[in-house]
Amino acid sequence: MKILSVNAGSSSLKFKLYEMPEEKGLISGVFEKIGLKDSFYTIKTDKEKIKKEVELKDHEAAFKILMEELMENGVISSLSEIKGIGHRIVQGGSYFDQSVEVTEDVIKKIKELSSLAPLHNPAAIVGIKAAQAVIPSARHVTVFDTAFHQTIEEENYLYAVPYNWYTDYKVRRYGAHGTSHKYVSLKMNEILGRYNTKLITCHIGNGASISAVVDGKCINTSMGLTPNAGLMMGTRCGDIDATIIPYIMEKLNLTPKEVDTFLNKESGLLGISGVSSDSRDIEDGINHGNKRCALAQKMFVKRIVDYIAKYYVEMEGCDGIVFTAGIGENSISTRREVLDSLKILGIEIDEEKNNTRGETICITTDNSSIPCYVIPTDEELMIARDTYNIVER
Ligand code: AMP
Repeated sequence: MKILSVNAGSSSLKFKLYEMPEEKGLISGVFEKIGLKDSFYTIKTDKEKIKKEVELKDHEAAFKILMEELMENGVISSLSEIKGIGHRIVQGGSYFDQSVEVTEDVIKKIKELSSLAPLHNPAAIVGIKAAQAVIPSARHVTVFDTAFHQTIEEENYLYAVPYNWYTDYKVRRYGAHGTSHKYVSLKMNEILGRYNTKLITCHIGNGASISAVVDGKCINTSMGLTPNAGLMMGTRCGDIDATIIPYIMEKLNLTPKEVDTFLNKESGLLGISGVSSDSRDIEDGINHGNKRCALAQKMFVKRIVDYIAKYYVEMEGCDGIVFTAGIGENSISTRREVLDSLKILGIEIDEEKNNTRGETICITTDNSSIPCYVIPTDEELMIARDTYNIVER
């Protein structure tokens, strides 16, 4: 059965088509600059990667071209072969603790939650409607980034602010990257060969979050109401003293939108280094003696260590630590610095095994108190799995 996994942004559309239940990826790609000038798409198959420049008026136009490409590439012979389409949704609020089939009510709720994910939820609705218009015969399923975190107890998801901010305005921790944390924790349990485990999963990319997962259920996570909480990130500040916000708004005469831009787009690695949000550039800067890059990296690592230590204590131990996403999978130095700071817990890195990028591997020695792994994440596959399960049911 063919299942299409899609991730619609305001001007982009990422996709991957799977043969399920074999979980075989058939073709993937991304449409970019939808509705803008110079739009184009890239498509990757087993054999080749192609890029085409084409006018993409809207998401519906992108889906139409995608279907033509799937047929031209011989992956499908008719649209009806695609039985399910899974749509990634960033914010599912407290409404969704699992993936669900799209209905009018589901769309209404995703829309209602738009103020919590203004860049993502409206774009996802556009993606769903476009996909429904082009491929009406398929079943459409929504897969929420927040769903995995819905098992968190209220003492961990509530903020110490007036209680009615929660009841009236839904102010609470929702978390993010849930699909990724779920995928790597499942994989880690498979590797360990048991499911009664205490895991710490570190999704460290441009956006970054850490979760504590007990027996496959998330009990805490570092992201909050929005994806700007917890760790320091590429351009996001993560946890800060909340009163910095009114203080700096007054000093610089900023509007809420302006201060939000500073905290989301001009902080983190970029804000501290003044050089870049990309950890490769930071590494480069450090190698060239740039002190602010060195400081940015030190702060970045320290915050990861803080969260791992916190969750180790909260879970009363840990059976495995996982690194995933762009930096977690590829930055040898970041992993080394994090694990070196955790020596006190009996963690011992294997330098040789850590000298790797983008593959599943244990990076600690046999003597290490906790095995630490790199596990490449696969959010598209999780979306396809959930979609397949719902369509099959
Ligand atoms: P993601 O958001 O998961 O796509 O991760 C993106 C981030 O991964 C980039 O901003 C880079 O900082 C980081 N990254 C990707 N490749 C490497 C690499 N080879 N070494 C260090 N960092 C990397």
